Amino acid sequence: MARPLLPIFTPFHRMKPSIRKMDTPHVLKNARILIIKIGTALVAQSDGNGIKAGWLEALAQDIREHLATKCKIIIVSSGAVALGRKAMNIPLGIAPQTIALEKKQAASAVGQYHLFHGYHEAFAKCGLPLAQVLLTMSETENRRMHLNARATLNALLDQGIIPVINENDTISTGEIRFGDNDRLAARVAQMTQADCVLLLSTTDGLYTANPDIDPGAVHIPLVERLSDEHTKMAGDAVPGLSTGGMKSKVDAALSATRSGIHMVIAKGVQNHALAHILTDKDTRTTLFLASSTHKSARKKWIQAHLRPKGRVFIDNGAQTALKSGKSLLPVGVRRIEGNFERGDVIEIRTLEGEKLGMGLSAYNTEDALKIMGHGSEEIGAIVGYTGRSELIHRNDLTLDIQDSSSKG
Ligand code: GLU
Repeated sequence: MARPLLPIFTPFHRMKPSIRKMDTPHVLKNARILIIKIGTALVAQSDGNGIKAGWLEALAQDIREHLATKCKIIIVSSGAVALGRKAMNIPLGIAPQTIALEKKQAASAVGQYHLFHGYHEAFAKCGLPLAQVLLTMSETENRRMHLNARATLNALLDQGIIPVINENDTISTGEIRFGDNDRLAARVAQMTQADCVLLLSTTDGLYTANPDIDPGAVHIPLVERLSDEHTKMAGDAVPGLSTGGMKSKVDAALSATRSGIHMVIAKGVQNHALAHILTDKDTRTTLFLASSTHKSARKKWIQAHLRPKGRVFIDNGAQTALKSGKSLLPVGVRRIEGNFERGDVIEIRTLEGEKLGMGLSAYNTEDALKIMGHGSEEIGAIVGYTGRSELIHRNDLTLDIQDSSSKG
């Protein structure tokens, strides 16, 4: 099979000097805030018999030895559902995606206790204080709650305490779930303005195809700029103990890198895997370089939204205006979907459905539908009050491509 290698790899001699020195140990060691995401298979015994205490102790030692004095650490850990399976009588062979929701939620309530207890035991031996933080998606998608959660995390970090975060699986359902901790880790990174996310799992990175199926799959050590090709390579999640698979990792990488955050995928199965990753350049990983660092925190928050409340489809004239840094006016909008309030984050798409970016709507769905296609001077007469001339103001707008609006 012919592989589209050219856009994926840049030969070393053709890399910019600033990129050439970017390897995984360099990026991890220079982070001021580092998010370490731990996959279920690393912390939970595969036979259902509890936590891997030895692995956790090795992790705590590596953090104390190599990172604790240099940077602030946040751990995002999976494992609650797996550690609560036995108590809830859920057989080992069943993939997490197929367990009935209420059983999974109950399992996570049991397992989260064992999970945090395991971390506490291991980290206390190294003198590293921890705090348990359970987040739901609404805390991160709502600006006020997002700022509250961020303040709590910052207060913990300032005190030298390592937050150990998981999704609050017991109360998160359906539409309002992250569902996998790869995306949660990227969101926490964006929330705390971290420099890097390290995803520790059972795989050592992204390959040109699924290496379990295709023996010709080639490992990709560095992704300078994520493209659709990479997303295709990741394929869909393969059912198993873990929830997300490579697809959710690449989605998380897209979200993180667009917010100016590097991401690393590395294999963490062996005891002291972290020490090897930090000290040995030859340890196989995939490093996704941050693609933008100059967006405001507010724009990064808008861009990292996972569940926009609606979509507006815009014509060519509006697209040109947005790309030159202008606001989105109602006149350029042809179609609207969803149910949103004023101030909600909505997606901006072309008429063909291609996603262009996101922004905060100045109108609710009802009024947006009325003013769509109309000149801004007509808005007052249509809605019956003096509203804004723009549907999305340029300061509330972030495009997926590099654009002049991203400086705001
Ligand atoms: N929150 C889930 C758990 O603790 C894990 C989600 C994931 O595997 O990414 O079991």
